[in-house]
Amino acid sequence: MQWEVIRKHQQDVAGANIQDYEASIAAFSWAREQAQLDGLPKGGLNIAHEALDRHVLAGRGDKLALRWIGRDDRVHDFSYADLQAAANRFANVLARRGVGKGERVFSLLGRTPELYMAALGALKNGSVFSPLFSAFGPEPIKARMTIGAAKALITSETFYRRKIEPIRHELSSLEHVFLTDCSDDPPVGATNLTAAMAMEQDSFETVWTVPEDMALLHFTSGTTGRPKGAVHVHQSVVAHHVTGKLALDLHPGDIFWCTADPGWVTGASYGIISPLTNGATLIVDQAEFDAERWYRILEAQKVNVWYTAPTAIRMLMKAGAGLAKQFDLSNLRFMASVGEPLNPEAVIWGVEAFGKPFHDNWWQTETGGIMIANYRSMDVKPGSMGRPLPGVTASIVERSRDGKIREVGKPMAMGELALRPGWPSMMRAYLNEEERYRKCFAGGWYLTGDLAMRDADGYYWFVGRADDVIKSAGHLIGPFEVESALMEHAAVAEAGVIGIPDAIAGEVVKAFVALKEGAEPTEALRKELLGHARKRLGPAIAPKDIAFRKNLPKTRSGKIMRRLLKARELGLPEGDLSTLESEEQ
Ligand code: ATP
Ligand code: MG
Repeated sequence: MQWEVIRKHQQDVAGANIQDYEASIAAFSWAREQAQLDGLPKGGLNIAHEALDRHVLAGRGDKLALRWIGRDDRVHDFSYADLQAAANRFANVLARRGVGKGERVFSLLGRTPELYMAALGALKNGSVFSPLFSAFGPEPIKARMTIGAAKALITSETFYRRKIEPIRHELSSLEHVFLTDCSDDPPVGATNLTAAMAMEQDSFETVWTVPEDMALLHFTSGTTGRPKGAVHVHQSVVAHHVTGKLALDLHPGDIFWCTADPGWVTGASYGIISPLTNGATLIVDQAEFDAERWYRILEAQKVNVWYTAPTAIRMLMKAGAGLAKQFDLSNLRFMASVGEPLNPEAVIWGVEAFGKPFHDNWWQTETGGIMIANYRSMDVKPGSMGRPLPGVTASIVERSRDGKIREVGKPMAMGELALRPGWPSMMRAYLNEEERYRKCFAGGWYLTGDLAMRDADGYYWFVGRADDVIKSAGHLIGPFEVESALMEHAAVAEAGVIGIPDAIAGEVVKAFVALKEGAEPTEALRKELLGHARKRLGPAIAPKDIAFRKNLPKTRSGKIMRRLLKARELGLPEGDLSTLESEEQ
């Protein structure tokens, strides 16, 4: 099916930060953008200064920085000045205990206010902040804290007793543990954070850091294998700021909701840093996904800009557009999605449910910020990730027989998505994995490991991860295309597609499908889906087999783990499962 282009109109362009894409590209310079930020004396730069101090110094301290909504609907507001004061207290707590510049501060917290104070306080202190996803068990925590040489950890007493105490003796670098909800009888070797912060001043002079000082350590999602620790520096704040402004259309005073957990890179870059540098208010919901609750928050908080993910959008689709329409969502100006390919069906559904499309954008833990996006003022081609950010050079490349990398010029030719290094938030290393890092670069390009195509208008189309692409009878088949075709069927909630070995074709396509509520996994439906896919895709690309699953295996950051579907199907070792979300079969 050819999806119709969603045309943008005058009201989409009016006030948008990008008015004319080509003109923005031509006029763009990273240096000029950096000059919009304060910086520190003598060429210094610190993320937390740009996120907090800059606003307070400019007299904007009373603006709302963070509205935290508890699981029980309690609301706690922090102005920029409040958040700065809390971050300062935390920085003082660290400094008093000798946790210094470049040393690693980890967090293992749900979405509580302390997480935001700790992230910004650690950065103010010149320390490196590394957030762990709160549902990790002891083993993945140990692995990451060991790689990162954690010196301090901030967590809750419950998590501490359950997940840290059993491994504490193995965490040789760990000197300080701070507990956010400490009981009267705290565990030995842990500090009551509330009491410690209460003893400190709420002023703190942000530690002088230079742009290349390490600031953040983010572990990848582990979708394709063992997670990697991507190192980011203070310079990345320039990209966080600019991409929030251009790709998410953030304006000062916007109410912004990023639904990603700060345990992953999206939740830190766009759930903390970018909205603050842009002077927006960030909404944080402590609770887990619930369609009705989410609509209630969008309505009650008058959210203007909403950044979410395909898995969540598919769950909202499951609940139906009718539910969305029961709420007044007229404040929503811009909706964006990241993390996985966004099926055209989901983009269009946005129009049905909200009167505007979801805008897909693409990036990775490694890139530290959005690299390719659909912009508010630019026509949307459903199924496309959009076009590169101003200041970002992207291309489609392939490796020729002699091992050289060359650009694939022809429109819609498949190749690896590559980026020219040089934007501020590019990772500077995979911590302790020099060889793995080096292998990401060739011919002057950073090779992303994703396959994609570029059309004649310069829009990029995701095909699949290089590891997931299926080679069948001379065709290269991207799982995304097959999954999107299946998603068009009214009974399908989610699809994951893999290749399985075949004596004749090399590989054949197999699909795993989770159904919408009310649909029965019958043989008749299976045949119907096979027929639907065959009609949509042709026999060479359509799945030869479809299996029903209650759920598909996903990473905790919400990505379908095709490698696990494959390993299970073929009886192969399942590999690193540290980021696998617990499954209900
Ligand atoms: P690992 O590298 O450990 O296997 P991961 O690649 O899932 O895990 P992340 O850095 O969180 O870790 O995810 C980045 C990847 O997610 C991209 O390389 C791409 O495969 C996928 N992705 C992100 N956004 C999009 C998008 N808009 N469309 C398609 N794929 C996307
Ligand atoms: Mg990756």
